[in-house]
Amino acid sequence: MSKELILNEIEKNQDEYVEFLRDLIKTNSYNPPGNEKNVAIKIEQYLKENDINCEIFSFGNNRANLIAYLNNNFDGKNLIYNGHMDVVPPGNESEWKNPPLSAFMKKKKVIIGRGAADMKGGLAAMAISLKILKRLDINLSGNLILNAVSDEETYGTYGTKWCLENKLKDIKCDFIVIGEPSGLSPLPKAILLGEKGHLIVKIITNGISCHAATPFLGKNAIYMMSDIIQNLDKLENIILNVEPPFSIEELKNFISDVFPNREIFEKIYKEQSVLQNVIKANTTFTKSLNIILGGIKENVVPDKCEAVIDFRLLPGQSINDVLNALKTLINDLGYEVRDDPIAKPEKVFVYLEVFHQSEPSVWKDWKNSENLRLLFSVIEDIYKKKPFYFLMPACSDAHFYRNSGFCSATVAFGPGSAATAHAINEFIEIDDYINAIKTYTLFAYNLLK
Ligand SMILES: [Zn+2]
Repeated sequence: MSKELILNEIEKNQDEYVEFLRDLIKTNSYNPPGNEKNVAIKIEQYLKENDINCEIFSFGNNRANLIAYLNNNFDGKNLIYNGHMDVVPPGNESEWKNPPLSAFMKKKKVIIGRGAADMKGGLAAMAISLKILKRLDINLSGNLILNAVSDEETYGTYGTKWCLENKLKDIKCDFIVIGEPSGLSPLPKAILLGEKGHLIVKIITNGISCHAATPFLGKNAIYMMSDIIQNLDKLENIILNVEPPFSIEELKNFISDVFPNREIFEKIYKEQSVLQNVIKANTTFTKSLNIILGGIKENVVPDKCEAVIDFRLLPGQSINDVLNALKTLINDLGYEVRDDPIAKPEKVFVYLEVFHQSEPSVWKDWKNSENLRLLFSVIEDIYKKKPFYFLMPACSDAHFYRNSGFCSATVAFGPGSAATAHAINEFIEIDDYINAIKTYTLFAYNLLK
C-alpha cells in the first residue's frame, strides 16, 4: 500500500521536484572556491517547510555542510544518503549552448547546467526522499539521514571527512548511498561497490645552472627528469602487486548479466573501446605523466624541471606504498630525495610534492548483503531494467566511510550519466531524475520500515 502511496505522491509533484533541482543548479557553488552554503540554505528551507530536522555547519568563507534526519531515534537501522553540494567550475562558458547556471530545460525532457548530473540531481532526489517520507507520515522504525557535503571536488577533507569525524561517528550505520551519477550509457544503471585510489605528485628535479657552452659545469635538471621518466615503468616492480577486487572476466560477467545473452554482450564489448578501457582501468594500477615544465633560456643549462604524474591505485595498494616506491626508484637512479624544496643553488636533489591523495576502497562482503539485494531490486523495479555491479575508475567520498570502518556497506548510485560529469553542456534526463527520487524513497522505506 505504501508503495502506491509513495509513487502517487511522486507522480503528482514532479513539476515541484524539477523546479527544486533547477533552483539548486542555478545556485552558484563552483569549487574552487566553494560557496556551498548557498546550496545548504536552499535545502534547509525546502526541508524545514516540512518540519524535517536540519542543521547547517558553516565554515570558511560561505562554505557549509548539512545534516538532516527524519526522526530523533538513531537506535534502529540507520541509512545515510550522501550528496555533495559543490560543483566543478564551468570551464569556457562560451562553449556552453546555454549558460551553465541557467538550468535550461529542453522540451521538458532534459535539464542542462553545471552540476545537473554531478551531482545536484542525486542530491535533490535524496533531499526529496526525506520530504516524501515525512509528508506521507509513514511509520518507520529506522532513520534516514541526509548528509549534504561541501568540498568533494577538492577531495572532501572539509566535507564528508569532517562530518564523519565530528557529527556522525557515534551512529551505527547500516548502509550508505552516495548519489554520484552511475549511468554508463547505453548500459543500464550501475551500482558501484568500490573505487580506485588517487595520488597526484609533482616531481621537482633540482640541478645546477650554468652556461650552455660549458654544460659539464652544471647539472641539467631536464636530463635528471628524463632519467626518472624513462625508468618510471620500473615502479610496477617495486610497489605492492595486488589482485584487483574483480578480474576483467568478473566485471564482464556483471555487465553481460543485463544482456539477453552472452553473444550479444561479447559483440558489443568488442565494438566498444570505451567499455574495454573502463574495465581495464578498474583492474590495473595506472600512471599518467600529464604536465612537464623546464628550462628558462635557450643557452642556459636548466637547474629546475617539474613533472606532474597522476597515479590511480587498486584497492589493497596505499598512497604510502606508491610514494615510497617512487622514492626508492629515484634513489636507485642515484638522486637524493629531499623533504624540503628550498635549496642552495649548488645542490642536486629531487623533491616530491603531493598535490592530492585519496585512498582506494572496496566493499568486500557485498555478496552477503540483503540490503544491497534490496537496492538492486528497487532499481530494477523502477527503471524497468536490471542494474549491474561495477567499480568506479575515478574516486568519490565513499572511501572515507569504507576505510574508516564506519560503514563498509557504502555504494554509489545516482541519476545522470558519468560521461557528462565535469563536461561542457552537462545534463540530466528528467525521467532518470524522477526514477532516482522513486528509488531513493522506496529503498529507504523498505529498508527502514
Ligand atoms: Zn561528484
